[in-house]
Amino acid sequence: MKCQVCRGPAVIDVRRHNANFCAEHFCKLVRDQTAKAIEEHEMLAPGDRVLVAVSGGKDSLALWDLLDELGYEADGLYLGLGIGGYSDRSGAAVRAFATRRGLTLHEVDLRADHGYDVPTAAAVTRRSPCSACGLSKRHLFDRAALEGGYDAVATGHNLDDEAAVLFGNTLRWQTEYLARQHPVLPARPGFPRKVKPLVRLGEREMAAYCVLRGIDYIVEECPMAEGNKHLGYKEALNEIEARSPGSKQAFYAGFLARAVDRFADAAPDHAEGGETASCDRCGVPTTSGTCAFCRLVERAAGAQPVALTRKGRPIDA
Ligand code: SF4
Ligand SMILES: [Zn+2]
Ligand SMILES: [Zn+2]
Repeated sequence: MKCQVCRGPAVIDVRRHNANFCAEHFCKLVRDQTAKAIEEHEMLAPGDRVLVAVSGGKDSLALWDLLDELGYEADGLYLGLGIGGYSDRSGAAVRAFATRRGLTLHEVDLRADHGYDVPTAAAVTRRSPCSACGLSKRHLFDRAALEGGYDAVATGHNLDDEAAVLFGNTLRWQTEYLARQHPVLPARPGFPRKVKPLVRLGEREMAAYCVLRGIDYIVEECPMAEGNKHLGYKEALNEIEARSPGSKQAFYAGFLARAVDRFADAAPDHAEGGETASCDRCGVPTTSGTCAFCRLVERAAGAQPVALTRKGRPIDA
């Protein structure tokens, strides 16, 4: 197996591109694909200050590394979710990476800074853990980006993630979500620009990139993810991809090129900045009264912390 660029020994095959690469040229491919996504969707301008949402997993750490390599002023933000040992280990991975690379890391801890954690918020509000977690992440990343004067928040969603979400939204024809599924959401009053620079790269490529770049990420998944519908969609798409390499890319890229605009009318009003009020607690734009984040904090902060459970059984995270 030879590298298609230099004919040296290859370390990875990328079936989607029908090509093999050595370590150097594979890392270059990943960098080029990231730069291409940024340019193609006008995600960032040269010299932009970017806040990278880092979880300790392969995608977010690789993204931080890539944006730094591409010359952006990229700082990290890690959110301590209070999900048992998983959160302890992911926080440690992020801190070690930032220290080794001399990068600036900001941290917010849900329990220490806001008085709750994800499992407790989920139990108290009867939301799923991922819903309580997603709401907290969106609010706190937006707030940190605006307060820190960043031009954009970048997240490590890769092609597999985005294709799985698209698959789920299409299966149910959730047109309001389809209308918003774009790798860049422009800034609007009270909300920073949000970008996903890894949408041209798959899960396997991100894992290989981390190994080749010596990035120590945490391999374990969040224990709350089990049973998540998206994992099923990913498996289904992986089967299709195995039989027909390139399908995932064609599905997602084709949607962006030829379909997403057709759903524009289905976008919810607030997607366009239609919030008419400010939250009476924190001041973010909202539809009325108290924003969803402040309502969550109001109910969850101070509640008795709950043990981690899955389907009613305690789990050891
Ligand atoms: S799996 Fe759910 S709870 Fe865990 S980090 Fe992701 S969104 Fe949060
Ligand atoms: Zn090569
Ligand atoms: Zn609020």
